[in-house]
Amino acid sequence: MKAVKAAVIHKRGALEIRTFPKPVLNDEELLVKVHMCGICGSDQHIFRGDWGEPYPIIPGHEFVGTVEELGKNAAQKHGVKLGDKVAVEMILPCGACRWCKEGFYNLCVKDREEGRQYGCNISCTREPHLFGGWSQVLYVPSNAIVHRIPDHVPWHRAVLTEPLAVTVRAVHLTPPKLGDTVAVIGAGPIGLLTAVAAKAAGAAAVILIGTRDERLALGKQLGADEVIDFRKEDAGSRLLELTGGRGADLVFETAGTPQAQKDSLNYARKGGTVNYLGLTGNRPVTIETDNQMTFKELKLQTSFLSAWGYQGAIDLIASGRFPIEKMVTHEFALDEAEQALQCASNREEKAIKVVLIP
Ligand SMILES: [Zn+2]
Ligand SMILES: [Zn+2]
Repeated sequence: MKAVKAAVIHKRGALEIRTFPKPVLNDEELLVKVHMCGICGSDQHIFRGDWGEPYPIIPGHEFVGTVEELGKNAAQKHGVKLGDKVAVEMILPCGACRWCKEGFYNLCVKDREEGRQYGCNISCTREPHLFGGWSQVLYVPSNAIVHRIPDHVPWHRAVLTEPLAVTVRAVHLTPPKLGDTVAVIGAGPIGLLTAVAAKAAGAAAVILIGTRDERLALGKQLGADEVIDFRKEDAGSRLLELTGGRGADLVFETAGTPQAQKDSLNYARKGGTVNYLGLTGNRPVTIETDNQMTFKELKLQTSFLSAWGYQGAIDLIASGRFPIEKMVTHEFALDEAEQALQCASNREEKAIKVVLIP
């Protein structure tokens, strides 16, 4: 394969298929043949230009694939061999800034300055172009963090590595203590996977708050002990009922709407913790800090991207615990990328996780 086909968002709301030359590798670089790439809520923001995207972009940060080509020293550098199943972390840390050196590579200064996230903020005008998962081939530079996925893991589980890593990071930042009740707001893919991660981390009870019967039903198979449909009942009162009038010890907000971020503060008990993982697309949120936070001595944590989360996610995926592959409801070919995006955003046909197979 000399030319590589990829989907490109070239301006707000416009996507087309383009071809790129296959990159010529330096010693510590490799190429990954993309087998599957999930479509994420962030991809909708990127399609709409909510964060001032540097178009044209090849989207896609939830990719998994196999090692297709290795530079001279790349096998040793990255600990992989040809044909290995791999996930590559979606951030490409510079490794030189203060935050990278201290391990906070999701906060790398170069990310804000020039874009360091696959599929999110790197223009495909940057050479060698292939910085997104909606492509047949992904370029992996020497500073990338490459993780091997065990051979036995099916692609439909493996493809959830990145979103699960997002939730593993969040749970690492605010882990449940023994006996804790965890509320998860939002029953989208990140909410469902947060239920998985919280349960795996030892939460005594997980309460999933969201909408749509099929998502909540799946949530029950993915670690949620109780589900609340906030369109059918008052989530706040039901949560109090389930927690002996206290509220949840720990709340993960994954919906990323201003209303959900505001409400989530009310779901936590006095002295409890709320962790925001959802992104609102920069919409303002109005909260009453006295009533909602200070009078309760609430702790508010945020969690950004998936750093430190990949290995835990892969271990959990490889364990076979929790039928997360049931989240993958729709598959599309690369040529159908726009249709796939549509399917994911309209939630047609009860879509939960839509994937592309380039
Ligand atoms: Zn994502
Ligand atoms: Zn850095």
